[in-house]
Amino acid sequence: MIKKPKEPVIPVARHDTVRREIISVLEGRTLSAKEISFYVGITEKDVYMHLEHIRRTVSKKDIRLKITPSECMKCGFVFKKRERLKKPGRCPVCHRELIKDPLFSIKDQKAKGRE
Ligand SMILES: [Zn+2]
Repeated sequence: MIKKPKEPVIPVARHDTVRREIISVLEGRTLSAKEISFYVGITEKDVYMHLEHIRRTVSKKDIRLKITPSECMKCGFVFKKRERLKKPGRCPVCHRELIKDPLFSIKDQKAKGRE
């Protein structure tokens, strides 16, 4: 069987382009929103906005947004149940504000076989 070549994707909107860029910088890498904002050239606030969208939509496709939750640097509390992607302001256990940024990566479910 002949493999179908990947067709070039022409973005319909800027938002789509940005999301694709975010997905591509996250492939095989784990980055914080700050790092993503650096690579893609958008603000951290926009990064979170797009990540929320990616999280809701990519699950239908072959890729999945993997989130490493924020963690308190003082007591080690992990913000596992947090619904929002953004870094929390302070720790509910020790009330410190030394919170590690959450990290993001993209898991490609069909990564094997790509040449
Ligand atoms: Zn803490």
